[in-house]
Amino acid sequence: MAVPPSAQSLIAEHEALYSQRAAGIKQSAVRDVFELSLDASLVSLAGGNPYLQSLPLKKLGDIAQRIITEQGPVALQYGSGLGTEELRLQILEVMAAEGIDNVSVDDVVITNGSQSAQDMACKVFCDPGDTVLCEDPTYVGALNTFEAYQVKAAAVLTDAQGIVPEALAERIQSLRAAGERVKFLYTIPNFNNPSGITLAAHRRQQVVEICRAAGVLILEDNPYGMLRYDGEPAPTLRSLDPENVIYMGSFSKILSPGLRIGWAAVPSHLFRRFYLAGEAVALCPPTLNQMIISAYLREHDWKGQIESYCQLYASRRDAMFAALEKYLPAGISYTRPEGGFFIWLTLPEGIDTYQLLQEGVQAGVIFIPGAAFSPGNPLSHTLRLAFCAVDEDTIDEGVKRLSKLLERKLEVLSN
Ligand code: PMP
Repeated sequence: MAVPPSAQSLIAEHEALYSQRAAGIKQSAVRDVFELSLDASLVSLAGGNPYLQSLPLKKLGDIAQRIITEQGPVALQYGSGLGTEELRLQILEVMAAEGIDNVSVDDVVITNGSQSAQDMACKVFCDPGDTVLCEDPTYVGALNTFEAYQVKAAAVLTDAQGIVPEALAERIQSLRAAGERVKFLYTIPNFNNPSGITLAAHRRQQVVEICRAAGVLILEDNPYGMLRYDGEPAPTLRSLDPENVIYMGSFSKILSPGLRIGWAAVPSHLFRRFYLAGEAVALCPPTLNQMIISAYLREHDWKGQIESYCQLYASRRDAMFAALEKYLPAGISYTRPEGGFFIWLTLPEGIDTYQLLQEGVQAGVIFIPGAAFSPGNPLSHTLRLAFCAVDEDTIDEGVKRLSKLLERKLEVLSN
């Protein structure tokens, strides 16, 4: 639609009012592809959506109805900026199930998903121009938050076992030598989104010690930790260093992302600043949703639910491994995650996966191009596949379609 001249000058006037940080705010590639994934003829291996059809929906419905009818004036009211006492106590049990037993309820703040805990951390610790360290690739939502706070994201070398400790130490040293203010390491130690890689148990103590010695905080983002399908769990960074690690947890992958409830376990001496930063944005996390989750944890076998999720996702992951094995042309490597939602493909250089996505839409399969997850965007020949949201046959079909496309691409490349 044509914009009349008077409106155009108003738009220009208003654009001049934007803050500098607003220029850095952009829609994530995951969101772009989300729109596409609504087309039912496409196989979407794009979205990291948990499979909510497996939840006890009737039970959750009854809980919600009961809470509103019996406790409506509390449930629909503002609540504490910290979150409800009951849920904060229950979160200690959830963390204990991951081997974290050194957190006091006074150090837990409930947040609007762990996304908002990332935002709070940037707000509290980062000035424009500061540097944070992260894996490459890493979670696109965190990269967007860093950009919005005008924070530089510096990649640390990783391999199949996660962050390389020696490289972390060197990176901190060289950034500092160049005058950069390094504030924290943002890391997803378990089943990284998007790579699926897990930080090896034997490296964890080293990573913690390097950061502690360098005066660099750790932001440990662990939404997938309980979705482990094989292998042994490794200790959380928080359990190794409660004074230097801010731990971020979430109910999004083990229950529901739509309820928007996550949490942060913050070292006691940092807690007050941290939680006040959240209160300034949202006043309080949603009371009704916290009460629903509390009742669910109290009345339902939530650990059993996670176990059955693990079985479901393990079977889907294995179907994706089998399909990749069967159809994928030679010359393409992929990660072998022991949990989480994602597998990461590395194609020969020269294939741009943004371009490939457009062709994927024609071929009936979509995924997320890898550059979206990379701080400097250099990983254009990589892509993320999600196995969580669709069944085994659909995964097979999606990987088949993608592989055909890749075969044609490789042929063109070799000519
Ligand atoms: N961190 C990671 C690594 C994620 O993958 C996601 C969601 N995809 C989030 C944080 C955000 O989770 P939440 O819904 O709790 O805000």
